[in-house]
Amino acid sequence: MQTQVQNESIEIAIERAKLYGMLKYLPDGRLTHAPFSLSPYSISAADMQEMTELTSYFSELMIHVSQDWAFLDQYLSPISESDPFLKMLLDQREREVTQSKQLLVQRNDFFLIRDELSNCGQDSSSSDGDTSASALRQVELNTVSASFPFLITQLSRLHQNLFEQNMMEQIVPNNPLGPVVDAFAKAIQHYGSTDSIMLLVSQPAESNRFDQLGLEQLLWDKYKIQTMRKTLTEIYENGSLREGHLILAGKLVALTYYRAGYTPDDFRTSEALKGRQLIEASSTIQVPDLPMQLAGMKKIQQVLTRPEILSAFVSKEISQRFLKTFAAMHSLDEIIETPDGELRASAWAAKNPDKYVLKPQREGGGNNYFGRDIPIKLSDMQPEEQVAYVLMEKIEAETHPAILVVNGNAETLTSVSEIGRYGICFADNGVVESNEDVGYLVRTKAENVNEGGVCAGFACLNSLTKA
Ligand code: ADP
Ligand code: MG
Repeated sequence: MQTQVQNESIEIAIERAKLYGMLKYLPDGRLTHAPFSLSPYSISAADMQEMTELTSYFSELMIHVSQDWAFLDQYLSPISESDPFLKMLLDQREREVTQSKQLLVQRNDFFLIRDELSNCGQDSSSSDGDTSASALRQVELNTVSASFPFLITQLSRLHQNLFEQNMMEQIVPNNPLGPVVDAFAKAIQHYGSTDSIMLLVSQPAESNRFDQLGLEQLLWDKYKIQTMRKTLTEIYENGSLREGHLILAGKLVALTYYRAGYTPDDFRTSEALKGRQLIEASSTIQVPDLPMQLAGMKKIQQVLTRPEILSAFVSKEISQRFLKTFAAMHSLDEIIETPDGELRASAWAAKNPDKYVLKPQREGGGNNYFGRDIPIKLSDMQPEEQVAYVLMEKIEAETHPAILVVNGNAETLTSVSEIGRYGICFADNGVVESNEDVGYLVRTKAENVNEGGVCAGFACLNSLTKA
């Protein structure tokens, strides 16, 4: 039960959230506020610093991996035999006009694990001489459609405002939106043409529209750069090539920002595929380009947890810091050490489903298997499909009580918080030109909820506070 005072603060917070444009569409088309929390997640200065420092190294890793087509092909081609979506993506390679300029806008997501776990030296935190453990566990790094730069920046304004009215504690300042917009403007200006625009590739029915709209608006307000928003099908129907440039409604598209194209649902029609092909055939700067999108695949994440593979891309020191944040990941046919002796990872996970998450090569939430769905899925799977999945150790995140406000209703629940760090990196032919951490995302959800989609209503936007 909320107290009277709490009820009033919640009303005030909801109204202000709407004022700041923290909005989302409900399935019936009505607008509501994006889910948010009124209990910032407390983090130690050391964890915060490590997470922030690692951002640019992870961006650099993604740039280097994206430059190594043979490596991507080695691990992704076998999967494409049973995964038509991945095959379609790999096939785009032939049509791609290689851009020397790369712009990566990524978000690297972590949980903090419970204290007793972080202190007991997990087998996943391979330390190689360095015995200090880390509480950070990477969930995944998003190289495509890293969402929420606008909504989370607005939430930070809301939380700051409530703090100034003595209704909340002080939060860690956060504004990833500004740097993301600045990076887009810089890339567009670099492309050369004064009158060129940004193309935002959108899904046909986008419930998270306001996160995109806020970004488009700032790009216009600050730089007078226009954004055109189109689905892949519309891009095929309305787009054309002129001297290698992508042209839409008479305007030259300098930069194409994907907020779609990461799921087979976005390619239901053959026109949508042709839309992607048109983009690939042009010289527009793609955020992300195809190899960078592929570098963010879960199979690539899994193979990079192997120290001997990781060390080909980063220095020894950075590799050690990365490894401490990795949860154990396996291919299904891998033979692993278990308390029952050496077993196939799939057999062990089928017996211990609560210890794992089973993941296909998909983005955007709702695709993973948890708990008892794991043995069911494993037994349904055709043998040739197995390569398309990876097993990841389930991260037991630290819990904390949090007030969660969803669609006008507030509840206090035992929750877990996933922290993402946004990174922006410019590179030219794989040589990094600028690289920075630009802020964070926190998504807080009830501890018993497996997936974490904000717009699906599971997770609530949140801020950090210093412990
Ligand atoms: P997607 O690309 O669909 O976002 P993720 O790997 O980020 O896939 O998984 C979606 C959500 O599932 C995460 O935000 C997190 O809440 C949960 N999740 C994923 N991996 C793990 C894990 N190893 N342990 C615990 N929860 C996880
Ligand atoms: Mg994710």
